[in-house]
Amino acid sequence: AKYAGRDAMRFFNPQMQADAQIRAELEAGLWSALEKGQFVLEYQPQVRGSAKVIGVEALVRWRHPERGLVSPAEFIPIAEENGLIVPLGRWVIETACAQLAAWASVPGRAELSIAVNVSARQFLQPDFVADVLGALERSGACAQRLEIELTESTLITDIEQIIARMEVLRAHGLRFSLDDFGTGYSSLAYLKRLPLDQVKIDRSFVRDILVDPNDAAIATMITVLGETLGLVVVAEGVETEAQRDCLLQIGCRAYQGFLFSRPLGAVQLEAFLDAMSPQ
Ligand code: C2E
Ligand code: CA
Ligand code: CA
Ligand code: CA
Repeated sequence: AKYAGRDAMRFFNPQMQADAQIRAELEAGLWSALEKGQFVLEYQPQVRGSAKVIGVEALVRWRHPERGLVSPAEFIPIAEENGLIVPLGRWVIETACAQLAAWASVPGRAELSIAVNVSARQFLQPDFVADVLGALERSGACAQRLEIELTESTLITDIEQIIARMEVLRAHGLRFSLDDFGTGYSSLAYLKRLPLDQVKIDRSFVRDILVDPNDAAIATMITVLGETLGLVVVAEGVETEAQRDCLLQIGCRAYQGFLFSRPLGAVQLEAFLDAMSPQ
């Protein structure tokens, strides 16, 4: 036991111990956060051309009583590990559906779609399809307005089953987007077989697109490939005019990023949309 203790000390420096403690604290609070209503959705506009908002991506935040707004980058990996991602993901979809239903009767908002991020573990739940269809039905939201963002990590497991699931949901009108494309392991052959509507160029390729010819080459390849396969290609993490111009030059015409807007709460989003296209 003494040996194990000494070995452990060799690997855990004080910083790592602090990180582990923060993680343990977050994990403890995470379980009750859902019941306590501490999660909120923010919405980040996706823009086509220079000003037309084609939809929004829903991004979850945790309104922590002591720590303030906690980023999903901190708690989603924990939730994926401990399984909370399943009820949390269900809440995200229900909340997005309620928002869609509220917009459906508002002129100028009815065409907006919401993209939700779905983790592999959530997508692979046996009742995922029934859950989504149930949420749509209960809310009265239109399935055509709901988009699901999957990452390549979802595709590692049984690809046939994943395709079958996607087909069922697409038959109901939902759309699918492949997130963070180029950062994972899926082969190009998968891209051809998956029933996708959209592919997103990961932020890591957009960030240095002006200075790194490799990033520009990859972004170009994804755009050409996506268009050839009949997909909408969206670049994420667009922060500057120069990045947008460069993307436009390589043929990518849909963008998401701080250049247009940060993720906004529902009320702020309404104000943003009104400013973009006054009723
Ligand atoms: P993601 O799906 O790639 O989402 C895009 C992230 O990039 C968001 O971070 C967004 O705020 C950020 N972003 C957008 N535009 C810019 C920009 O111009 N510059 C920079 N530097 N960043 C930008 P966020 O909200 O912190 O979310 C992080 C990740 O957490 C998401 O990455 C997604 O993987 C995950 N996530 C968020 N919400 C959910 C959810 O409801 N379910 C699941 N499973 N995952 C979620
Ligand atoms: Ca996403
Ligand atoms: Ca992404
Ligand atoms: Ca990303």
